[in-house]
Amino acid sequence: MTVVLQRLLDRSIKNMGSGMNSVVKASALEMIKRAYKEGIYAQISAGYRSMEEQAALFGQGRFFSYKGKNYSNLSKPKVTNALPGQSFHNFGVAVDYFLVSDDGKNALWTINTKWKRVAAIGKELGFKWGGDWTGFKDYPHLEMTGGLTYSQMNAGKKPSLSLKFNTENETVVTVPPKTEVASEVSKDPSKNKGKGDATIVSIQKTLNSRYKAGLIVDGINGPKTKSSLIKALQTELNKQFNKRLVVDGKWGAKTKAAIVTVQKGAKGNLTWILQAALYTEGYNPGSLDSIFGKGTESALSKFQKAKRITADKKAGKGTFTELFAD
Ligand SMILES: [Zn+2]
Repeated sequence: MTVVLQRLLDRSIKNMGSGMNSVVKASALEMIKRAYKEGIYAQISAGYRSMEEQAALFGQGRFFSYKGKNYSNLSKPKVTNALPGQSFHNFGVAVDYFLVSDDGKNALWTINTKWKRVAAIGKELGFKWGGDWTGFKDYPHLEMTGGLTYSQMNAGKKPSLSLKFNTENETVVTVPPKTEVASEVSKDPSKNKGKGDATIVSIQKTLNSRYKAGLIVDGINGPKTKSSLIKALQTELNKQFNKRLVVDGKWGAKTKAAIVTVQKGAKGNLTWILQAALYTEGYNPGSLDSIFGKGTESALSKFQKAKRITADKKAGKGTFTELFAD
């Protein structure tokens, strides 16, 4: 079975570690996504490396001490000539990548056309590739330094970098929800008398259990349900796309800028939020199954036409603004 994209992204995020420059991190993930679309399965093996980690790496195969600590490790071969502060990994602006087998189980280190294609995608996104270096070639290595030197970065200077791609055009295939909440109420409407709409009840219950929304489950769509849906959206954007939004339930410029496009074929919590928001606006997607299929597409299309925005059947910044802005 072919490895799923989310798995490659999850592993890459883990391997990059904290301390990455956010533009470099997002660009590395975009590279993995674009390669995946071409049937090339790549993954990030390393990203941020602290000065101490660099010291331990430099100490392999030689005698070395750093800040009074001994890092000599003669039992291992030399792997780097970069001292702490002499690798762009130390500043979170470099990543290393490799290819994986179709099933995602094996690392492939042969420098072939696929490997070079990933480098080319990386370069389109603003990276410089170690395979282009004269002299020693570092094929897994990609960096984005904004023209700064090691000494400038050691002095605390941060590169000014910007994304070379538009997140609006992203196809989103998200992970399936982990804790799907069964809607007991909507299955038996007779138990639901005087309690408002059964599907709204199910939406409120899901918001309470999945996002700890603390809503009163009354089946009535009100401002609290809406702001809880915005919170859910902010939570998912932070979790799945490494955005750093304040989860405040308010529709603002930062949340709008962070929106990724949800379109046919997408699965998971973002799709569920879209379905729930469409339903609360009176556009029934048929079911709230977290899968962007025909029903969601048709409800979305009707909503877009009613709001006189581009009826492209994709939920991007424009659609979410119509759904959530006051
Ligand atoms: Zn590297």
